[in-house]
Amino acid sequence: MIIQRVVLNSRPGKNGVPVAENFRLEQSTIADTVQEGQVRVKTLYLSVDPYMRCRMNEDTGSDYLQPWQVSEVADGGGIGVVEESKHHNLAKGDFVTSFTWPWQTEAILDGDLLQKLVPQLVDGRLSYFLGAAGITGLTALLGVREKGHVAPGANQTMVVSGAAGACGSLAGQIGRLEGCTRVVGIAGTDEKCSILVQEMGFDAAINYKKGDVAKQLRELCPGGVDVYFDNVGGDISDTVISQMNQNSHIILCGQISQYNKDVPYPPPLPPDTEKIQKERNITRERFLVLNYMDKQEASVLQLCQWIQEGKLKVRETVVEGLANIGAAFQSMMNGGNIGKQIVLVSK
Ligand code: NAP
Repeated sequence: MIIQRVVLNSRPGKNGVPVAENFRLEQSTIADTVQEGQVRVKTLYLSVDPYMRCRMNEDTGSDYLQPWQVSEVADGGGIGVVEESKHHNLAKGDFVTSFTWPWQTEAILDGDLLQKLVPQLVDGRLSYFLGAAGITGLTALLGVREKGHVAPGANQTMVVSGAAGACGSLAGQIGRLEGCTRVVGIAGTDEKCSILVQEMGFDAAINYKKGDVAKQLRELCPGGVDVYFDNVGGDISDTVISQMNQNSHIILCGQISQYNKDVPYPPPLPPDTEKIQKERNITRERFLVLNYMDKQEASVLQLCQWIQEGKLKVRETVVEGLANIGAAFQSMMNGGNIGKQIVLVSK
C-alpha cells in the first residue's frame, strides 16, 4: 500500500535554528497485510513539540529521548483511527494514540503500544488528547501539583513564561484553579497577551518583546513572585527569579530559549541569579512529566472535567497537511502558535 511520510532531511546542527527544510515529504509503502497483534491505522492528528528540537541532534542530550535518523521517518505524539485489526482489544473504528506515532498517512503498528481513546471525554474534540487532555495538560497539571507548592488561602502570585503556548496557557489557569490569587503571563505578542487576559483569566500579561519586563513585573506583582512556571529559561527567567520571594518555588518545565544552543539541560543559572536562588531558598528541581505517569489516568479525568465545565479554556493552532509538518514545527519554535500546535493529517 502506498503512503506519504515525513523523514528527517538534515540536522540543523547543535547550535542551529531548525527550518522546515530539515524535513522531507516522500512516498513510501506499508505491507498489504496485518499480522497477529497488529493494527493498520489512518493518521488523523500529529503533535509538534519543542522537545523534538533535541531529537534533531545526533545526540539528544537525554537518556529518555532517541535521536531521529536522517532519511528515516520521524515520530512523536499522534492520534489515528483503526482501519483493520488483528489485535484482541482493538476494533475497526477505534480511536487510538501513541507517543511514538510515525509521521505518515497510514501505518501498521503493534496494538499493544497503542492507547484507546474515549472521544466523549473531550466532546469529540480528539486533538485535545495531544494537548489539554494529553501530555501537555498533564505537564501543566502535574508540574503545578508536584513542584509548585500551591496552597489555597496562601495568597500566592504565580508567573508563567511561554504563557500563551501549549503548556503555559494551561499552567496559568491551573495555578488559579489550584489556589493562586494572582496569575501573570509572559508571552511574545500583544495578541497573545490579550488572549491570556480576556479569554484565559490571567490577571495580566507582559509582552517580553516590548518594554522593560523587570519594571512591568514589579508593577504587576507588587508582593513579589511565589510560584514561577518556567517554560523558557534565559534572560526572562533571570528577571523573574530576581523578583521571587523567600522560600518560593520554580516549576522547571522547559528552557526553550536555550534549545538551539549546545548547553546541558537544565542550563546552569548565571552566578548572580544562582546567588539569589540560594539566598532566598528558591526551589528549582527538574520536572519531567514522564516520571509521574502513575498519575496519568486520574489527571486526564481531572483535565477533561475542567474542560467540560468550561473552567479550562483551550486554544489550538491547527496546520493542515502532513506536507506542512516541518513548517508547523518551525513556526511553533518561533512563536507562531497560540496554545497547542497540531497538524491535521486526515479528517
Ligand atoms: P509552546 O510553548 O506551545 O511553544 C513554544 C513557545 O515558546 C513559542 O510559541 C514561543 O512563544 C516561545 N518561545 C520560543 N522561543 C522563545 C524564546 N527564545 N524566549 C521566550 N519564549 C520563546 O510549547 P510547549 O509544548 O507548551 O512547551 C513549553 C515548554 O515546556 C518547552 O520548554 C518544553 O520543552 C517544555 N515541556 C516540558 C515537559 C516536561 O515534562 N518537563 C513536557 C512538555 C513540554 P512566544 O511568542 O511567547 O515567544
